[in-house]
Amino acid sequence: MSDVMYSSTRGADLKVKASEAILRGLAPDGGLFVPDHIPHLDKSLEEISALGYKETAYEVMKLLLTDYTEDELKNCIEHAYDSKFDTEEIAPMTQAGGAYYLELYHGATIAFKDMALSILPYLMTTAAKKNNIKNDIVILTATSGDTGKAALAGFADVEGTKIIVFYPKHGVSPIQEKQMVTQKGDNTHVVGIEGNFDDAQTGVKKLFTDNNLAKEMNEKGFQFSSANSINIGRLVPQIVYYVYSYTRLLGEGRIAKGDKVNFVVPTGNFGNILAAYYAKAMGIPVGKLICASNSNKVLFDFFQTGTYDRNRDFVLTSSPSMDILISSNLERLIYHIAGDNAAKDAEYMKELTQNGKYAISDDMKAKLTDFYGNYASEEETAEAIRNLYKETGYVIDTHTAVASSVYSKYVKDTGDKTVTVIASTASPFKFTRSVMNAIDNADESVDDFALADKLSEMAGITIPAAVETIRNAEIRHKTVVETADMEKAVRNFLNI
Ligand SMILES: *Cc1c(COP(=O)(O)O)cnc(C)c1O
Repeated sequence: MSDVMYSSTRGADLKVKASEAILRGLAPDGGLFVPDHIPHLDKSLEEISALGYKETAYEVMKLLLTDYTEDELKNCIEHAYDSKFDTEEIAPMTQAGGAYYLELYHGATIAFKDMALSILPYLMTTAAKKNNIKNDIVILTATSGDTGKAALAGFADVEGTKIIVFYPKHGVSPIQEKQMVTQKGDNTHVVGIEGNFDDAQTGVKKLFTDNNLAKEMNEKGFQFSSANSINIGRLVPQIVYYVYSYTRLLGEGRIAKGDKVNFVVPTGNFGNILAAYYAKAMGIPVGKLICASNSNKVLFDFFQTGTYDRNRDFVLTSSPSMDILISSNLERLIYHIAGDNAAKDAEYMKELTQNGKYAISDDMKAKLTDFYGNYASEEETAEAIRNLYKETGYVIDTHTAVASSVYSKYVKDTGDKTVTVIASTASPFKFTRSVMNAIDNADESVDDFALADKLSEMAGITIPAAVETIRNAEIRHKTVVETADMEKAVRNFLNI
């Protein structure tokens, strides 16, 4: 078996092993690490259908993280997918309203980011050992709400690491904010910024690529890494649940051997749907990858026209984790459809930085037939929650509702009857107010926790521990800075 090596989307010179790509997070030229080839699953889908989540995870991850030993990888998997999840299935599926909802929110912070962020700290500390790293790893993360908490929960008190999270002070839900600012662990630091998610992400990227800062940090015994979905160590564990859901359907006889399934993915930074694209490349029979956007529909426009254009107003929606105008992981797709061409990708990304837009070639556009893009307005999103609840009693969150609404549009557009799996990316209890508003106009005077009680009663499900434990928790993080002062905040925390 040949090693999978990783190189930058923007330059072909550097080739590193998986563990090094995970440690670095971002390539030195600002590009993202991509595998030089995508191996095919080496067990049949029938064989995999007999496996549990952890065993499936091993089958997928061993093929892409080839420099980890079997023991190392299994050890990481064991630590990640344990009782932090409230179900042994880890990623159960519920059939409702003509689709399967793949529930990716049974982890510590009740959103799908847990699927990858519960394993990343172990992949990273294992990588540090393998590469003889003596520095403390400083995880620097920009979050639109969910990554931050999931990363904090994953890295809190992990020896040899520190984590700094930047979030848009006015762009996350009250429960998301409370989850973050109550985070325990002396190695954690949470900072609100006076800006939106793109500002936070741009600021973090700038810190990552600041060579002087890196040098100074190294002298003081620190080095940055990233827990953002640009880290290949986030992407690889996300491929697992697409393989798992497909083989579950196969094992349960809901589809036959060779049948295709569609995946609908509520999309922001393009990480989750890219994992589905890789799952297809590894041998999962996929029909369409349906990319669902909210009113920040930059990806919908891209799939329509072949032009990616971030020059537009940023809209705050009820699905804040998808309020994004620069979908970082799209760069990996651009690189692949350009024929793994780093020079071409670098050109497009330069245009994006300079003009806020780029237009791909017709050849590349022709390679996007795997995808279908559409979007849901705020009203359509609420309607999807309301209708599904009224028809089936099943409650979905706002992000999942964007996907659900887009799936209805897709069926209307195409008449396609292929079995379809919708990635359900957050528990409705994470966005309680919007969910309750959609179902029956939530009472303004009632706080989010009282609303959670009401939702629990209505949906007949107990409030997740993640919500209960922050109800009366102490607020430990109060720092808020201007975007321009992000570096200062980092220096303060690290004492450099
Ligand atoms: C992060 C997130 C998304 C978007 O996922 P990407 O991988 O960034 O496209 C969707 N829904 C929820 C709840 C999220 O937390």
